[in-house]
Amino acid sequence: MHRKLYYIQTFGCQMNDHDSQVLAGMLEELGYAQANAPEEASIILLNTCCVRGNAENRLYGHLGNLKPLKEANPGLILGVCGCMVQQASEREKLENEYPYVDLVIGTHNIHRLPVLLSMVMQGQRVFEVWDENKEGIPEDLPILRPESHHALVTIMYGCNNFCSYCIVPHVRGRERSRKPEDILREIRNLADAGVSEITLLGQNVNSYGKDLEADIDFSRLLAMVNEVPGIKRIRFTTSHPKDLSPSLIQAMKNLEKVCEHLHLPVQSGSTRILQKMNRKYTREDYLNLVRSLREAIPDIALTTDIIVGFPGETEEDFLDTVSLVREVGYDGAFTFIYSPRIGTAAASYPDHVPEEEKKDRLYRLNEVVNAFAYEANKQLLGSIQEILVEGPSEKSAAIYQGRTGSNKLVHFELPATMTVKPGQELSLRIVEAKTWTLTGEVVEKDFKS
Ligand code: SF4
Repeated sequence: MHRKLYYIQTFGCQMNDHDSQVLAGMLEELGYAQANAPEEASIILLNTCCVRGNAENRLYGHLGNLKPLKEANPGLILGVCGCMVQQASEREKLENEYPYVDLVIGTHNIHRLPVLLSMVMQGQRVFEVWDENKEGIPEDLPILRPESHHALVTIMYGCNNFCSYCIVPHVRGRERSRKPEDILREIRNLADAGVSEITLLGQNVNSYGKDLEADIDFSRLLAMVNEVPGIKRIRFTTSHPKDLSPSLIQAMKNLEKVCEHLHLPVQSGSTRILQKMNRKYTREDYLNLVRSLREAIPDIALTTDIIVGFPGETEEDFLDTVSLVREVGYDGAFTFIYSPRIGTAAASYPDHVPEEEKKDRLYRLNEVVNAFAYEANKQLLGSIQEILVEGPSEKSAAIYQGRTGSNKLVHFELPATMTVKPGQELSLRIVEAKTWTLTGEVVEKDFKS
């Protein structure tokens, strides 16, 4: 008998990717299998993001596209979950303007999917969104991970910081850390299943443990994870600069499995704008952190997030951001145009920057970011890099890809007599550098082995 199929579309960040993996795990336990396209599915879930306005617009566009499927197949269950539905205004819109949506689940109760699905199957239209997680952090939920060698592991949920532009604390709630023993159990199980690289996830991993009774912080958690046999590489995201402690820098320096890459969102190079963003550090604080990191870990790769066009950002503020990018010389950056989020403090700030100006600043910033990313990659030409193999590249089955510890994507061809598996370590000589990728050749010792 054919299994019924589900289709999950994920918008937004790695937290949402992880939630979608949990949703998929629960559906697989219910006997469903993954569909390749929404047309094949009897359950479609859209896991939404509300960090930027265009993600919301895209969601409503997708919902409109799915309407004919629902009309052709009234038994199809169409659900919306994720950050967007934590906002009452969006729920009202879904309830009133999208009557063909059967199910809405918030971020705090995704573990209730099986119960809520059965209610929908009995003919109810179910909207269940909690403001907080009333039952504590659910452990041991099934999870369907798409890669055999790499896993996302959530270590904490929520955020306490209330950066003035950010909707996350409003939709994901306050910081809640998982117990270290639960995290370690999950990672040991992953290692037993063949996972060699993990990414520890949280909105602000540097404040991990502050809400726990146990005497633990993020650097100590990293030391514990470092001891798990079978795990070769440890990554983590996201780090707030204000909570990046000297002990974490030392942990990154001393723990051999922690990768030499840090994503450290700066958001702006202007202290005046950083204050308006409620980031709680100055330009100088940030640059001092970068100096400390580079002193401790000279080959560390640094990436960042930057917002341009925050309310009140002048050309001078923007040029401060450009000069900070030049001073740090990032390996890469995610750059964004500020978009107001209803419910955040900054949405009501005066002096919104005209759209044309924002676009112009983004363009100018990207020119600088890209030049530094290319320069950082060029520095690696001729060097030997240890990569962890990911598998065939997205473009061609004949070209493989893997990542350096510094998180650089490297493409390479395999000698005809050689095979590799995802998660395997391999030495490559870097022979070509582009802005976002490198090309490598397998070095002799690996070729022979
Ligand atoms: S640290 Fe700031 S930007 Fe990051 S999730 Fe928390 S409030 Fe949002």
